[in-house]
Amino acid sequence: MTNQDRRPDEARLDQTLRRLQYILPLGIVAAVSVYAFVSMFFLQTRLDAWARLGIEILIFGGLGAGIAWFALRRVRQDLAAQRERDRAARVQEHILAAITANSGDAIILLDNDNKIQSWNRGAELLFGYHAAEIVGKDFETFVPPDLQDELSYLDRQLQEQGVVRGWITRRLTRDGNQPTVDLTRTLLRDDQNQVIGSSAILRDITEREANARRVRELNRQLETQVAQRTRELAESNKELRKRQRELEDANAELQELDTLKSEFVSLVSHELRAPLTNVSGSLELLLADTDSLTAHQRELLTLANDQLARLARLVRGILNVSRIEAGQTLLQMQAFDITALVERMCSQWQFCDPDHTYRADIVGNLPSVWADRDRIEEVLTNLLENAFKYSDPGTEIRVRAETRENEMWITVNDHGKGIDAQDLQRIFDKFYRTERGDARQTYGHGLGLYISIKLVEAMGGRLWAESEQGAETTFYFALPLAGHASIASSSGAAN
Ligand code: ADP
Repeated sequence: MTNQDRRPDEARLDQTLRRLQYILPLGIVAAVSVYAFVSMFFLQTRLDAWARLGIEILIFGGLGAGIAWFALRRVRQDLAAQRERDRAARVQEHILAAITANSGDAIILLDNDNKIQSWNRGAELLFGYHAAEIVGKDFETFVPPDLQDELSYLDRQLQEQGVVRGWITRRLTRDGNQPTVDLTRTLLRDDQNQVIGSSAILRDITEREANARRVRELNRQLETQVAQRTRELAESNKELRKRQRELEDANAELQELDTLKSEFVSLVSHELRAPLTNVSGSLELLLADTDSLTAHQRELLTLANDQLARLARLVRGILNVSRIEAGQTLLQMQAFDITALVERMCSQWQFCDPDHTYRADIVGNLPSVWADRDRIEEVLTNLLENAFKYSDPGTEIRVRAETRENEMWITVNDHGKGIDAQDLQRIFDKFYRTERGDARQTYGHGLGLYISIKLVEAMGGRLWAESEQGAETTFYFALPLAGHASIASSSGAAN
């Protein structure tokens, strides 16, 4: 409890005593006067001496004593309350003193001349001096030489504002260290509001400050790195945009070249086709003349005719590819019976190539497909030609037709050297031919499968292959059934 708390209690006691000081004598005088008056006019005539004596004893003996008893009781109660409050205040002061003495912060009491009056355990730990060595010394003792000006400034602040809080500074310890401290100074006043000194509370924040400095340094490094990375990103973004522009330009150039190439190929192929047909017709005519040709001449003409046929096939293939790539392949989509086509083609191939056995395997009664009949014949021709070229004489080449989940599956299977897994991924690429390990020379340009897959896909179908090396190869193509074809595939143009 503070002095200010105690003051109202003392005042109250003082006031009670002062009231009693007047009330008691006045009360007794008033009571006696009333009795004397009443006794003189009424009691003396009406009551006998014994009765009056009784009343007087009651008034003079009892009244005074009773009032004195009540007054003393009141004073005693007030004193007891006062004692209880004093005791509580002492306990609180004790606790406060214990807290102050053992606080981790340095708590120092200074008089008006800034001389140290008291010095707690926290101050001993911070500065390295015992209280006995330091009491009476100047507070300046702990201010580093370069901060001497600070003291007078702080004193001025203290006088003006009564308190200085959170002042971060340094102080000098016994062993010459200068820890960073958080200083709070408070002006102390007595009951009469007279300044009797000041307190200084110092908290060692050296470590906290060092941590904060480290965090600031890390932040700075981080910001530098982020800025650096941002710059690098911006740079690489710029580079990427440049590359993208270059790629776009190159792409546009390539597209232009591609168009030029397609136009050129188409032109050349067209220009080649007419003379080829003419030369072929002439050769056929010459060969038809059986009488005038010697055996050697006939052999040479037949060779020339074969080579011409190959050239014509290549020109046809290239023309096909350029049409497909230009999206100019017109499809005549229709519903037709593919089983008849399969059977016819197998018979034709069997007729031309007696070394293999061609078998048409039609599974059940098959519905019609939705496709371009001529293009399907072209695809089948490519697959049968490959089966013929890449399988061994004496083996079987089987063409199977069956329906599977609303699709017509056509399978061309042969027993040849097969295709390895790596090549299987690439045989549908334009001009791709596998390296053959055997000595057999097969004629081709790597266009047949490329043209076939493009045509099948344009008709809304799929084409793929499976192979077991050294055993067999199977090409599959799936076509939509008539009535199940999608609108896109029935539009009629291959893109
Ligand atoms: P090519 O005119 O060379 O036959 P294709 O596009 O028809 O061109 O075939 C590409 C390549 O796929 C061929 O060179 C061949 O190596 C391989 N190939 C195609 N069909 C078969 C098959 N039935 N058996 C083994 N290899 C095949």
